[in-house]
This record gives sequence, C-alpha cells and structure tokens, in this order.
Amino acid sequence: MYRCNRCQALFETPGKTTVIHYEVDTRQKETVHICPGCRSEDFEEVTLCKGCNTNYIKSHQDYCSDCYLDVTKAINELAQQKGLPFADTLDLVEAYFERVS
Ligand SMILES: [Zn+2]
Ligand SMILES: [Zn+2]
Repeated sequence: MYRCNRCQALFETPGKTTVIHYEVDTRQKETVHICPGCRSEDFEEVTLCKGCNTNYIKSHQDYCSDCYLDVTKAINELAQQKGLPFADTLDLVEAYFERVS
C-alpha cells in the first residue's frame, strides 16, 4: 500500500507517467510512478500497524504513534511494578514477543 504525501490518498498500485527530459535530450524518457489521485511523485510505501491493524504507517515502522504510546505506557507501568529500568523492561518485553511470534 502507498500513501501520497500531498493528497494523503491511499492506493495499492501507483500510476505511471512518462517524463521526457527536453532539457537534456528528447530521447531520454523516464517512467515515473505517481499518485493516481493528484499525480504527485511524492508518495511512500505504507503498511498497516501491527498493533491496531487500522492505521497506516511507514513501512520501516512496526507501530503507529497511537499504539507506540500505549506500549510505552504499558512498559513504564511494568517497569515501575518490577522496579526495573525502562530499557531492561523493554528488552524483556521484546524477548517475550520474539518467543511467542
Ligand atoms: Zn496524491
Ligand atoms: Zn496502531
């Protein structure tokens, strides 16, 4: 899935257009991918958040900011309960999720 940074449209397949570089050489054609809505080239790959399965996020992220806030809050609470530093608690939680997934 992709999201346009200009019109915020979500789309599965980017549109295509051919750009002819008149400034260089008219034989130099280039196919560029564009947003099917506003024809902007400024779009990026997005993916569904692993947490809520609702919000789209950049493909290199795992969670949307909503879920990330929830997770951070939960880890903070756990850290306080266990009397552990935040980083150690995060390691424990990550190790746990690696085992179950
Ligand atoms: Zn667009
Ligand atoms: Zn989420």
